[in-house]
Amino acid sequence: MQLSKKYQSISPSSTLSIDSKYKALKAAGIDVVGFGAGEPDFDTPQHIKDAAIRAINSGYTKYTPASGMIELKEAICKKFREENGLSYGIENIVVSNGAKHSLMNSLGAILNPGDEVILPAPYWVSYYEMILLSDGVPVILHTSEENDFKFNAKDLEALITPKTKALILNTPGNPTGMVYTEEELRAIANVIEEHDIFVISDEIYEQLVYDMDTPPSIASLGENIKNRTIIVNGVSKTYAMTGWRIGYTAANSEITKLMSNVQSHYTSNPNSIAQHAAIAALEGPQHSVLEMKKAFNERRLYMVERMNCIPGVSCIKPQGAFYVMMNITKLLGKTAGNRKIDGSDSFAQLFLELNNVAVVPCSGFGNDNYVRWSYATSMDNIKKGLDRLEEFINNLR
Ligand code: PMP
Ligand code: GLU
Repeated sequence: MQLSKKYQSISPSSTLSIDSKYKALKAAGIDVVGFGAGEPDFDTPQHIKDAAIRAINSGYTKYTPASGMIELKEAICKKFREENGLSYGIENIVVSNGAKHSLMNSLGAILNPGDEVILPAPYWVSYYEMILLSDGVPVILHTSEENDFKFNAKDLEALITPKTKALILNTPGNPTGMVYTEEELRAIANVIEEHDIFVISDEIYEQLVYDMDTPPSIASLGENIKNRTIIVNGVSKTYAMTGWRIGYTAANSEITKLMSNVQSHYTSNPNSIAQHAAIAALEGPQHSVLEMKKAFNERRLYMVERMNCIPGVSCIKPQGAFYVMMNITKLLGKTAGNRKIDGSDSFAQLFLELNNVAVVPCSGFGNDNYVRWSYATSMDNIKKGLDRLEEFINNLR
């Protein structure tokens, strides 16, 4: 029997599959070090857990409005007002099952079959497949390390066709860690307005930036661009809440209504207890975010400095998120244990097999000359992983 051609064309998430390989090896008692998972290694702060326990004990265990509780939407609006200088009402907010779900809602609300979505590369692996799942056509905008993996307004304009519907903008970016300045965003916003397209602005890493304050949101640059922007954000990264599955969007009320209607059929509300926890996350004390950021920053500086001292590999310093893109171009063509490194997949496979270190190949991120290391892991693990990298490279022929 012929199963769905669309579903059969979708690859599994490489980030999640590396992480599960790492976890399986670890469970088998192997001394493996994992740099795959893009999730904070910190526990969810206690006051957030307490709010969830209180919610259970108070009987908040039933359906909420499908697009999220009003109290949570109000907390999200307050966050936008205070942190991003953006004014939204609850009619602009949909709370979903993680930012992944918010992204699917966003693409679903704006795309018709064959619409093109411009996707800057290197991109987070799921964007590509999500565009396909939404019947869109990904159009890749390549960027280079020399330009800090950032595109400019001209690069964007060159790819716009009558079929272009939207740009996906991820700042701070996964996997690049790069942040767009207000000036760069202004030029990009002008192109978006001129060509009458939308922008999906994924701001999930906005609080995890190291040499600056909260970076600007493209939506904050004027009413016209705000009306064309769907902001995607969530509590997963900022509050170490990846397992709770709460993401949200802010968009004009017409788009919000479409997303909310579809979500009411697809999933109903996101978990009611997790919504109560998200209110506590957004409204409660923020010192745990600062502590986590401090630790990430120390690891970032160490990893970047040490990696650039290892002959054969290099990286640029990321400004946000918790990833380092390691350039492996100089290792291509070399052999490890009689097997050739011909791209990021073989590098990652051999490094895992021979030295028990899990990193993510960037083949699935639109650039095969890099592998991604997540520094959301302990300093001890980072030291161990980089020691093993040196060993791996020393043994190459
Ligand atoms: N956007 C980016 C750029 C991400 O790295 C992630 C991480 N999974 C997500 C969205 C999805 O986050 P969530 O866990 O809330 O679905
Ligand atoms: N976003 C994280 C990553 O890139 C988590 C895994 C995933 O959802 O892809 O590793």
